[in-house]
Amino acid sequence: MPDLRRDARVIATPGTGWPDDVARPSTPVAASAEEVRRLAAASSDLDSVGASLTAKVSVCRACPRLVEWRESVARVKRRAFADEPYWGRPVPGWGDPAARLLIVGLAPAAHGGNRTGRIFTGDRSGDWLFAALHRAGLAALPTSTHAGDGQRLLGVRVVAAVRCAPPANKPTTEERDTCRPWLAREISLLDTTLRVVVVLGAFGWQALLPVLADAGYAIPRPSPRFGHGASVELEDGSGKTLRLLGCYHPSQQNTFTGKLTESMIDDVLGLAARLAGGVG
Ligand code: SF4
Repeated sequence: MPDLRRDARVIATPGTGWPDDVARPSTPVAASAEEVRRLAAASSDLDSVGASLTAKVSVCRACPRLVEWRESVARVKRRAFADEPYWGRPVPGWGDPAARLLIVGLAPAAHGGNRTGRIFTGDRSGDWLFAALHRAGLAALPTSTHAGDGQRLLGVRVVAAVRCAPPANKPTTEERDTCRPWLAREISLLDTTLRVVVVLGAFGWQALLPVLADAGYAIPRPSPRFGHGASVELEDGSGKTLRLLGCYHPSQQNTFTGKLTESMIDDVLGLAARLAGGVG
């Protein structure tokens, strides 16, 4: 098969060979919030080829502003990547389909996930996160550079609360809510194995709490506040518990200023791995 990642004439059309792309031309496309809800609810598996949740997420067109942005970034490109094709589509969750630990970020970066097609891959935040996951024994390699690079997550899955790259890294409230059923269904499909969720930043925390409430977890009142090191144990009424851990987002703003250090993220991921058990 030709290496389409290196063919600058090719964009990430479903079924044309982009590594890890499970969408096909027949994959249903959501064009509205209602269709996101319907297609997410009808998804019965995470990662299979054709009609899985991951496939449907990766072709979604429900948010006009984000579709326009992600595709215009993919056409114009950054000079450093001018000879590469961009993914230019929603960036689905990636990792273990039976994960015990889930990591929730904000949204893909315009020249990171929106370029490579893998979440937290191809930008500085991702370099930081994958290095930390590797130090914690949760990723096979210390780097994640492009789909098909041999990286594997070990008992872990990484998702974004909003699956399309937004202008200025700021999705609107409406876009967050439109995208929520994809996140909700992903968590529901992981439910039998999932033990711990690490949330990177306040946006993901706020996006996740209503999802967990809808999934049956009792959310304390007042609502738990995001903070680095925040830790909340939730119960779903059937005896199942889920631990929620807060971690500052590994944005350059946080890592350059020292607000988030390597030892701080290592502490959170180490605790998450211990609580999740059986990962790494
Ligand atoms: S942000 Fe979510 S709901 Fe909106 S177009 Fe992207 S994948 Fe679809």
